[in-house]
Amino acid sequence: MSIKVEHISKVYGKQYALDDVSMEIGSGEIVGFLGPNGAGKSTLMKILTTYIQPSSGEAWICGHHVVDAGMEVRKMVGYLPEHNPLYLEMYVREYLELVAGLHGLRNNKARIAEIIDRVGLEVEAHKRIGALSKGYRQRVGLAQALIHDPAVLILDEPTSGLDPNQLVDIRNVIKQLGKEKTVMLSTHIMQEVEAICDRVIIINKGRLVTDKGAKNLVSDKGEIQVLTVEFGSNVLTADLQQIEGVELVNHLQGNIFELNSAVGADIRKTIFDWAVAQGIPLLSQQVKKKNLEDVFKELTKSKK
Ligand code: ADP
Repeated sequence: MSIKVEHISKVYGKQYALDDVSMEIGSGEIVGFLGPNGAGKSTLMKILTTYIQPSSGEAWICGHHVVDAGMEVRKMVGYLPEHNPLYLEMYVREYLELVAGLHGLRNNKARIAEIIDRVGLEVEAHKRIGALSKGYRQRVGLAQALIHDPAVLILDEPTSGLDPNQLVDIRNVIKQLGKEKTVMLSTHIMQEVEAICDRVIIINKGRLVTDKGAKNLVSDKGEIQVLTVEFGSNVLTADLQQIEGVELVNHLQGNIFELNSAVGADIRKTIFDWAVAQGIPLLSQQVKKKNLEDVFKELTKSKK
């Protein structure tokens, strides 16, 4: 497991920036960490990269504990912070040499050249960072995150503030990197997840809204079926969640539930068969289609 998070909370004063968050990210996955502003994305990323400590709970990067084995964790992880603090007066290579030095890398010219090539910085590599466009500054940020060849990349809003062309370029770089590294990237943009990620983890107000099987939320088709189902007797949300093809369950009221299907699946017959097998009367099923944007809005709208 590349990233393992168990019951992490972070409290500022009385406010929970993270509230009992658990997740696992396997090696080689590109996972989108999606949530509105203030959801807690940066806070978790800072914990995973050892910049801050959790109030409670534990986390590991490649088996190394983020609090007890911070040095090991920093070797395994490359981090692009949201407000990437670049030294604007420095030249690109000079800056990367500085970062390589901080990682204790010696004779790093070849390594720096390789990374510059990898993130597509060659044409701008002779310039001062301050003279670069935002898109190229982000490439410098990616280069510094990659310099020590970490197994895990944690990228906090890597495309924010980029124009549409720069955005496509950076997404392509990230996709390429994802072929050999585990990538966790945060974003508040649904389309970003669709464009880059294998899986999406949605967070809202410090709590995970969905993770289990959520990769099926992401698909080229982009549409899922939302079924409003009314049963004639008591049904448990947890039981509905076990049904194959059901991705998410919202309890609306009484015995009425809203079920989100996996992308492209029609779960009406499955639900019917399940109800029959359980001996539960099925009073009605109403279907509508939703795109991922709708699902995201719904999952992150105020519930508490
Ligand atoms: P996101 O990255 O999803 O936008 P953050 O992790 O930055 O969200 O913030 C989560 C919540 O924690 C927000 O309400 C934010 O105001 C609060 N927060 C973050 N850092 C601090 C801090 N150092 N002190 C107090 N509150 C903070």
